[in-house]
Formats: sequence, C-alpha cells, structure tokens
Amino acid sequence: MSLRSVRQTGDEILRKKSKEVKDLTPRLKDLIVDMKETMKNLGGCGLAAVQVGVLKNIIVCAPNEEEEPIVLINPEILEKSETMVEDSEGCLSVEGYRGKVLRPKSIVVKAKDEKMNDIEFDAEDFLARIICHEVDHLNGVLYTDKVVEGTLEEIKDDDAGEKE
Ligand SMILES: [Zn+2]
Repeated sequence: MSLRSVRQTGDEILRKKSKEVKDLTPRLKDLIVDMKETMKNLGGCGLAAVQVGVLKNIIVCAPNEEEEPIVLINPEILEKSETMVEDSEGCLSVEGYRGKVLRPKSIVVKAKDEKMNDIEFDAEDFLARIICHEVDHLNGVLYTDKVVEGTLEEIKDDDAGEKE
C-alpha cells in the first residue's frame, strides 16, 4: 500500500480518455488500494485512476467518510434525471479552487464492482455528483470546463470543502 501523487491541471494526461478494464490484474488491485488511501489522505471524496496517472476506467467514491469507499470499474451513466442541481465542487487535481457545477439530481449507473461482478444502481444527490465528476475524468473532462460562469473561486486551507 502506498500513496500516489495526484496529477495537477495542466498535466496532459488529465485530458486523455481512460481505457476499459478487461482483467482485474494484481497490479490494478494494488492501484485500487492505493487510490482509496490517497483519496483518504488528501481528504477527497472521489478519485479517478487517471488522476494518479493510470489511464484505466476505475473510480473510487466516498460520499461518507465513515463508510468504505465505493469502487466502480468501467462505470457508465445509463440515465440522468432531467432535474439538475447546482452545487459547489472541488477537485484534487485543481488544488485550491472550487466552483459551482450543474449536475443531474439522480442517475442510473452500470459498472463492475471490485470482484468484476456487474452492478447497476441508482445514485442521488452527492453520490450522483461525485460519480458524474469522476466519470468526466475518465473522458478527459475537468469540472472547470463546465463550471457556472463567475463561480470559480480560490479557497483557503481551513475551508477546503469537498474535493473530488
Ligand atoms: Zn476531480
């Protein structure tokens, strides 16, 4: 288990598309363990593999600090609610900033779990927001691309907010 360094905006890897995971190799299992640790260590609530420099469709989401993070492999958003919600977001790859982004209130997600079993579920509110943010990372998109105009702001250390 080890902490990995998180790529920062400007690093071109963050703009690349991640690839499907066909086989969950021991190396990728180690990556998932490290992703969870790295996210926790930095106080984040979500992390995509590309953020630690690996172009694989893997994300971890932690809507709740006390619970074990949710691991999604090859996640796909099948449906998005018409109702959109505007809320504040940050990103471990865009340190020191946050801004408001419109996201669907609820989504239907298809993915594989940590054992490569197929799963499908509904996610709402904060979890839906995290998954949308992380799936964007897998497509080379950062929240700053879609931030509501005029809402991107610098934040102070003691007011870090949620970081994905
Ligand atoms: Zn992010």
